[in-house]
Amino acid sequence: MENRNDFLNYMEEQIAALPCESVSELVKQAEGTDRLYLVFVDILKGFCQEGPLSSKRVAEMIQPVRQLAQALVDKGLSGENLVFLQDDHSSDAVEFSSFPPHCVKGTSEAETVEALKPFRNMSGVQVFRKNATNALFSRNEKGVRFFEFLENRFQEGPSTFVITGDCTDLCIYQNAMGIRLLANELNADVRVVVSAEHTRTYDTPVEVAKKLEIPAHDGDLMDLVFLYHMKLNGIEVVKTITEK
Ligand SMILES: [Zn+2]
Repeated sequence: MENRNDFLNYMEEQIAALPCESVSELVKQAEGTDRLYLVFVDILKGFCQEGPLSSKRVAEMIQPVRQLAQALVDKGLSGENLVFLQDDHSSDAVEFSSFPPHCVKGTSEAETVEALKPFRNMSGVQVFRKNATNALFSRNEKGVRFFEFLENRFQEGPSTFVITGDCTDLCIYQNAMGIRLLANELNADVRVVVSAEHTRTYDTPVEVAKKLEIPAHDGDLMDLVFLYHMKLNGIEVVKTITEK
């Protein structure tokens, strides 16, 4: 137990010492905005504002993400470089055996939050609708699977993917890792950047969990462990991405 506390303290120190990134540095390192991609993961009403999986804690990242998206668009990032990975479940989704029904196709829960709709509505945006937490096997409207889309981007040259949204330990972790691991497998020159301020998970205290007979989920601890774990795996985890 003592060792465990040492490790928790160590992880906290590591995450507290994360560097900051800036929009201008991102664009500079990517040599412009052509090879820079902003990925919005599940920033949907069903995780932020309504339904059984919505969480106020998760919704805290909406405004920082909106500001980051605006700053990148102001720098010239086009709709083609905005990637939306979003839950769009069938009503009989197998995933509903693990989580209560949420973000069913055609419902308002499956919609992008209002604050981000101006970006979602830009022409050329890439949308992958998924029926599982990991989007790698999901398809866009043209039937292209997300991993095929990534392979095509990787072949075009060095690229940078900035991952935002929720939840840190589920869809952020799995999709950031998916992009990182595909790039590793292909020896592709790819930066995967995750900002702590632009990602978030939910909180279900043990007391509440016991009362409702649902799994407990410590938001602060899960954010900490999974940010640390992504860093361990070569994802560039930063404290924030400043607008300038
Ligand atoms: Zn889901």
